[in-house]
Amino acid sequence: LPLDYSCMVRASVPGGVITGDQWLALDRVAALADDKLRLTTRQGVQYHVVYKNELAQLVGGINSSLLTTLGACGDVVRNIMACPLPHPERRAVIDPLVDDLVARFRPQTESYWELWVDGEKAVSAEKPRANALSLPAIDDVEPLYGDAYLPRKFKIAVAWPGDNCVDIYTNDVGIVPTLSEGTSGELTGYVVLAGGGMGMSHNRPDDTYPLLAQPVAWVPVEQVGDVVEAIVATQRDHGNRDDRSRARLKYLLEAKGIDWLRDQIEERTGFALAAPVELPDWTVDAHHGWHDHESSPGHASDSVTLGLPVPSGKVAGGLRWALRRLIADGLVDELRVTARQDLLLLGVDPREIETVENLLHANGVQLASDNSATRNLAIACPALPTCSKALGEAERVLPDVVDRLEKVLADTGNTGLPLRLNMTGCPNGCSRPYAAELGIVGRSKRGYDVLVGGSPAGDRLARRLRADVPINDIADLLRPLLERFSRDTDRTSPTSFGDWADANWEQLDALLPPDTSRR
Ligand code: SF4
Repeated sequence: LPLDYSCMVRASVPGGVITGDQWLALDRVAALADDKLRLTTRQGVQYHVVYKNELAQLVGGINSSLLTTLGACGDVVRNIMACPLPHPERRAVIDPLVDDLVARFRPQTESYWELWVDGEKAVSAEKPRANALSLPAIDDVEPLYGDAYLPRKFKIAVAWPGDNCVDIYTNDVGIVPTLSEGTSGELTGYVVLAGGGMGMSHNRPDDTYPLLAQPVAWVPVEQVGDVVEAIVATQRDHGNRDDRSRARLKYLLEAKGIDWLRDQIEERTGFALAAPVELPDWTVDAHHGWHDHESSPGHASDSVTLGLPVPSGKVAGGLRWALRRLIADGLVDELRVTARQDLLLLGVDPREIETVENLLHANGVQLASDNSATRNLAIACPALPTCSKALGEAERVLPDVVDRLEKVLADTGNTGLPLRLNMTGCPNGCSRPYAAELGIVGRSKRGYDVLVGGSPAGDRLARRLRADVPINDIADLLRPLLERFSRDTDRTSPTSFGDWADANWEQLDALLPPDTSRR
């Protein structure tokens, strides 16, 4: 049966940056899948239901757009995430760093090109590598990954100081620029963090769990690539290769400590590490709505950017058609995928703002201003039916979960509350539920774990409020909490539900009906 050979294909999109032409190419090959593009929570693009006989054509089509699937999956450094906002001061700092990291960590395998690109040997004595990405010719070994690759996937993100839109603490390595005057000014170096990761297993709660990354060092600009490479090499050499559930860097650092990692880095690089400096307070900006940005590289000097919410990152139907039309008509020249599965549309002439909005509305696409803040901030992984690890639904039930939540918010005097809701179909945590204000994690087809108390800035883990809650009961479970939150907090104060739930953690259970779950 064809379904026996259905695959998921993921394109790696460093920093989420996709030119208009690349988007059109990615859109074209969606016809070889289920006619949808999925924006991922790591700023990539993936396709579901790709049959075996169309796999090569789809992967080849992605590569011909100068994007690639190489490094998007597997036990390697995955897609490098970065704040996608096109402000020139951010791009001048972030883009060269992302380019350097991609060059260091993309696998150098020849077989990928032989299998998926042209069917010929990509490198030989007679034929130097000449593939679409112009990677350098190499020997027959992976220079960094060796012959056994990494113990597991490895995630790296680059944030802008004060803007944690990439959920920096959930990554194996996080990198935050330090600037001479706080959040503006000249680049002085980077704070490097390590040891974050979301995944856990329901049946191993004692030795698998989410952890947030911790600061390791402040690093001068010219050393940051080598320092990150030393961390990857440390995980390669010391990570757990016996137990895949415990193979992430977070467990290695928990066992050995940050000082041990610093010693490893110093030994491997020859640099003496400085202590990490304090980072500015975080906010999380979803970058929705219209943004001005002066002279963004590659765009007209007065062009503007639209941050467009994309429910669960699914690009299909009217949205897919509208994006094609916006690019073909020259109204948008670049797209960027955000860490919350949304899109930034770049290069819009300010005189065309109304045209762009009208075209989107005419195709049934809702702008951020059309939705509640909670709906705009709700994300979900694909889960059932397309993810083989899914224990329950996520993407398909999210709109209903938000409908119920909006009603409870309205009933409890919390209309308009921005609530960071991250939902997954299993505890792997692809949409980072453990670092959200409200996390919903699939435990079975029937029940979900509900977590609260993560910070809106993504720098504090949520805690499990209840296990195994039926999907239709989640909003009502939260009702007494939201009632008390509404009474306790002044609507004009900036207190978030996540901060309130964390501060009042010990009292929350008394507000809830008795826990009848057996977990
Ligand atoms: Fe990831 Fe689990 Fe969701 Fe699949 S079901 S996408 S593995 S979180």
